[in-house]
Amino acid sequence: MQRRKVTLKLYPNAAQMARLEAWTRLHCELYNAALEERIDAWRKAGKSISYYDQQNVLPQIKADRPEFVELGSHALQQTLRRLDLAFQSFFRRVKAGQTPGFPRFKSAKRFSGFTYPDPAGWKLMQHGGRGTTLRLGSGDAALSIRARGRHRFGVEAKPNDITLTRRNGQWFVSVTLRVPDAACARERTGDQRRGVDFGVTDWATFDDGRTIDNPRWLRVDLPKLAALQRQRARKKKGSLRFKRIGRRIARLHDRIANLRRDFVHKKTTCMVQSCAVLATEQLAPKNMSRSAKGTVEAPGRRVQQKAGLNREIRSAAFGMAHPMLAYKAEEAGTRLHLSHTRQLKPSQRCSACWEIVPKTLSQRMHVCPHCGHTAPRDQNSAMVVLIDAHNTQDTPGTGVAARPKPRPRQRGKSKFLTRETPTTAPSGA
Ligand SMILES: [Zn+2]
Repeated sequence: MQRRKVTLKLYPNAAQMARLEAWTRLHCELYNAALEERIDAWRKAGKSISYYDQQNVLPQIKADRPEFVELGSHALQQTLRRLDLAFQSFFRRVKAGQTPGFPRFKSAKRFSGFTYPDPAGWKLMQHGGRGTTLRLGSGDAALSIRARGRHRFGVEAKPNDITLTRRNGQWFVSVTLRVPDAACARERTGDQRRGVDFGVTDWATFDDGRTIDNPRWLRVDLPKLAALQRQRARKKKGSLRFKRIGRRIARLHDRIANLRRDFVHKKTTCMVQSCAVLATEQLAPKNMSRSAKGTVEAPGRRVQQKAGLNREIRSAAFGMAHPMLAYKAEEAGTRLHLSHTRQLKPSQRCSACWEIVPKTLSQRMHVCPHCGHTAPRDQNSAMVVLIDAHNTQDTPGTGVAARPKPRPRQRGKSKFLTRETPTTAPSGA
């Protein structure tokens, strides 16, 4: 049994929308009241209130305020849990010596939505046609909301819990499905063995030299975004026009995010479907895009350039690509090999003689002084991770190649023997 999450866009009519909004306000009210109770109890009596203390008051609240009844008791409990989680994270971070913000009161406008934590109080129906229907509540008061799209797991998939979220005035339902392994399987159409290097210049470069362009959505839309932000800066803060432009900015951000996610989904699916072995390096976009600012005492160099590069790195969405590759590889029975970047140093290593050839980021060609091997930088890295994948055959299907040290001089010993690029398929593999 596997868990899969799908998010569908909801199309509530005006009346349904109003009720969803009203329910969100009630959940928000509960959240804020529970937060206030915790703060008061601590201030006045030095007493800390647990999740269970608050959960046990819920029946009383429902008796006093009947409008809470139709929200469903488990959904209400889940909102209290959400607050509890906020407190847990707060205390955990305090303990760890960080300086987290205290859990905040939330305005109903910013409250993102609510969750049904188990398959009760709602139903997700996918029958015929192209869409899905989400039914909330029961009896005459139930809401039947249309949703676009349907999940691909068929009838065996059992919806387990849902979260309704509101973003930019649009509603989405995020469904966790429990899917049998067989229903997860993805068709694979090819048995290639490929190394791939993700980068900013080309989004992906394969070991055979093929590349996938980086669409650079942000670069296209950034001037538009900047213009809108300038327009908004001229408006009076909080005015109608200020808010109106704020909504347009949010929609533009949304659009960029959608384009990006769509692109990454399509490309990763394509890669996984055509490959039996896919090798790449572990990435940490967070480290890659670390600010070059430094401190006041020790300011960094080339801060502007690094900021620009960081924007591109984040915009290329590598952080999204890897998790997608991981689960899709598993579904397609593709072996995904993640090389240890620090140990292997794919961008610095020669794929022909396995020597380290230091390069700066601006050097786009790999020219090996040891063996004379010449290849585009990214193609060379892709080749290195592919060779690494072959060297570590014992790595399980998807996982990290936890090899203590890269084996030196794997491909050929003499610098005279290996003037050519090694073939991708190793003997005996
Ligand atoms: Zn070399």
